[in-house]
Amino acid sequence: MHALSKLKPEPGIWLTTTDVPVPGPNDLLIRVKKSSICGTDVHIYAWDDWARRTVPTPMVVGHEYVGVVAGMGSEVRGFALGDRVSGEGHITCGHCRNCRAGRRHLCRNTLGVGVQRPGSFAEYLVLPAFNAFKIPDEISDDLAAIFDPFGNAVHTALKFDLVGEDVLITGAGPIGVMAAAVAKHVGARNVVITDVNDYRLDLAREMGVTRAVNVAREDLWAVAQDELGMTEGFDVGLEMSGSGAAFAQMVDRMNHGGKIALLGIPAGRVDINWDSVIFKMLTVQGIYGREMFETWYKMVALIQSGLDLTPIITHHFGIADFQQGFDAMLGGKSGKVILDWEG
Ligand code: NAD
Ligand code: ZN
Repeated sequence: MHALSKLKPEPGIWLTTTDVPVPGPNDLLIRVKKSSICGTDVHIYAWDDWARRTVPTPMVVGHEYVGVVAGMGSEVRGFALGDRVSGEGHITCGHCRNCRAGRRHLCRNTLGVGVQRPGSFAEYLVLPAFNAFKIPDEISDDLAAIFDPFGNAVHTALKFDLVGEDVLITGAGPIGVMAAAVAKHVGARNVVITDVNDYRLDLAREMGVTRAVNVAREDLWAVAQDELGMTEGFDVGLEMSGSGAAFAQMVDRMNHGGKIALLGIPAGRVDINWDSVIFKMLTVQGIYGREMFETWYKMVALIQSGLDLTPIITHHFGIADFQQGFDAMLGGKSGKVILDWEG
């Protein structure tokens, strides 16, 4: 089968052929229809420090996908050939304390699909059936293909009560923009999103945020006060940029008692004003992955109740043109980029 693989420990990714993987007794064999490019795939492509430390080569990359069940192991129950599925990309151990308590997202032995085991930039993927999630008919292939990052957005956005609250989101990447749409959909009052990239701020506007602020040019707090009439600070913050400067700005602009959910992964250590955290009694909550599988059910329900994510998908490429897909991601003028594995 064809696959995009990290063949060598150097920048790049290569279209290659490899054997169709064989499902074990508890696995599904999934024929991949579409797989979207994640920021993580771009890190692996660029072969940065994190990728060097984490990814053995050769490795078939990719973990955001939709496909159909094309085979299954003898022990699998609850799936049928032809079922349309996406899947949780964190493979958990099942025997640590958190796994046994049903808190799978807190497993300390997690392995990543397309990071430490073969991924979805391929015609076929093998996945433990436990990790597969059936996609209802009314959800399109395109949307199902981005459930993994949508799940990061939903997990983060729904960590704290947003109803009637003023929400600050730093970082209008695909996940920040989806979180903004979720916040609006569930009843936040003002949803303000920041970035330094105008293309992405425009995407956020298209998704219906109250105000998109380019912090390279505009004063966030002046906008909040003068245009939105805010006087005290933001109630909830969703950090989705990984920028230390953005996190510091968020801590500064929270109201007393504010709550921050931190998804963005900083490249290095971050200097923040701990006095503000203490004297304002802020709550800072790290977020990793998606809750298995509460987040997945909520994603479906959000879409079924009218949340429209379609503007976030900005590019499609056939697999032969994968390089253009990575270039679009690297150029910063993209939302989600989907690679089509069929025809
Ligand atoms: P992305 O890199 O596409 O988006 C980040 C955005 O932040 C970019 O548009 C960038 O221009 C913007 N930015 C940079 N400096 C800024 C500043 N000072 N103020 C405001 N915005 C600024 O990332 P993504 O794919 O949308 O993911 C969001 C973040 O979440 C990334 O840091 C990613 O690594 C992280 N992530 C974490 C998890 C997890 O489980 N914790 C999972 C997936 C992604
Ligand atoms: Zn575990």
